Amino acid sequence: MALSCDVLVIGGGPAGSTVSTLLVERGFSVVLVEKDRHPRFHIGESLLPRNLPILRRLGVEDRLRQIGVTKRGADFSGDHGDNHVVYDFSEAMAPDEPSAFQVRRAEFDEMLLQNASERGVHVLQETKLTDLDLGKDRVRASAMGTDAVVQAIEACFIVDASGRETFISQRLDFKRRNERHKSAAVFGHFSGVVRRDGEEGGNISIYWFDHGWFWMIPLQDGCTSVGMVSDPGYLKQRDGDLEQLFWQTARNTQGVATRLAQAELLGEIRGTGNFSYQSTQMTGDRFLLVGDAYAFIDPVFSSGVYLAMQGAEYAAEAVEGILTQPRAALRHRRRYERRVKKGLRAFSWFIYRFTDPALRYLFLNPTKRFRLRQAVISVLSGDVYGRTRIWPQLLLFRMIYLVTSLVFWREQKDHRARLQKSEQMVN
Ligand SMILES: Cc1cc2nc3c(=O)[nH]c(=O)nc-3n(C[C@H](O)[C@H](O)[C@H](O)COP(=O)(O)OP(=O)(O)OC[C@H]3O[C@@H](n4cnc5c(N)ncnc54)[C@H](O)[C@@H]3O)c2cc1C
Repeated sequence: MALSCDVLVIGGGPAGSTVSTLLVERGFSVVLVEKDRHPRFHIGESLLPRNLPILRRLGVEDRLRQIGVTKRGADFSGDHGDNHVVYDFSEAMAPDEPSAFQVRRAEFDEMLLQNASERGVHVLQETKLTDLDLGKDRVRASAMGTDAVVQAIEACFIVDASGRETFISQRLDFKRRNERHKSAAVFGHFSGVVRRDGEEGGNISIYWFDHGWFWMIPLQDGCTSVGMVSDPGYLKQRDGDLEQLFWQTARNTQGVATRLAQAELLGEIRGTGNFSYQSTQMTGDRFLLVGDAYAFIDPVFSSGVYLAMQGAEYAAEAVEGILTQPRAALRHRRRYERRVKKGLRAFSWFIYRFTDPALRYLFLNPTKRFRLRQAVISVLSGDVYGRTRIWPQLLLFRMIYLVTSLVFWREQKDHRARLQKSEQMVN
């Protein structure tokens, strides 16, 4: 017999757990299918301060404090040493959330999914959505468990929170590679990584090198997540395997080499290929895409989980509007789309330029004049949905970037030529 509910949610990551919890709170019956069993590994371990109010509303702040490392800011270093520049969240224009957390996603995602289940979401783990019919009146879907038994599910509406699997986007051919930005990553967990001193010990550290950048994210129990992000061509030209390339690049990047001198890999090195994409459509009559199921650009500002969870809050509002006021459905859909795009846009301007010599210079030489540094920190905190007036400063920052690009025109030209060459290698 078919399971019947108001809303079916695909995926038990941050987006799926958040939207389903909030929909149940609004009185809807929700079935969530998750193909894996939590806890399971997932990348994306550094959170933003603006994520905290959402986690508070979900009622998981205390549990989060038990599994997280307090993150007070982000620090940035060039590849010629360990002089780092700290962007402290307490210096944001609206500093009411002065810190965030670093988490193991296995624990974080399990916490959110368990909370969803405790609040009344019907959670089916190890259950993969395999088929979908977006009928005129109702959504009909099939899901398969590990015993290969097929479960039929019927719903009034479906929310796709399937992450990079982009279930609906793939099926309806909405998914497009991001032509402006191409990146790949290699990462692992390590013991013995040197941490920053004192209160900076929980910061995320970012190090540029010629073909990209490294992250270092301190986790609990002395473990540190370290990852290398580069243009995909750099990974393609490797002689050895990914692990060799990782160590070779780390040793050639001075600040990283120093901090990894005594480090030991825990488990395996993992890689992910070109991961930047966007869907051409975000909503339809009976569906809505949220989080990575709609788009993902780049991990550099640790915005993925926050965008997914903020998007999920907006999605819950939109689904409620669509189901309770069918005549105003289109208005609710458009509002949701505008809000999601606004968040993505704010980060993408910085992401697209992050490896440019000009932006690198501005990040390593921040100015407090005209509150520019505060505005950038506000973006790094996730304050991008219009709550604080940061746009005049950001506009000025963009103009200064243009002038800096002219000063660095030769380096900018070489940088673009290198990216073009990398793209030719991959195509
Ligand atoms: C290299 C890298 C580093 C990153 N670092 C960060 C970071 O430091 N901070 C940050 O905020 N973000 C980071 N991100 C981004 C972050 O991982 C994602 O943005 C975030 O996980 C999105 O959440 P989500 O809920 O949309 O998707 P996911 O977390 O991917 O959840 C999707 C869920 O759907 C399930 N699923 C998929 N298909 C099906 C199906 N057919 N049936 C049932 N279940 C299904 C999956 O098993 C999964 O549990 C990083 C990304 C990359 C690639």
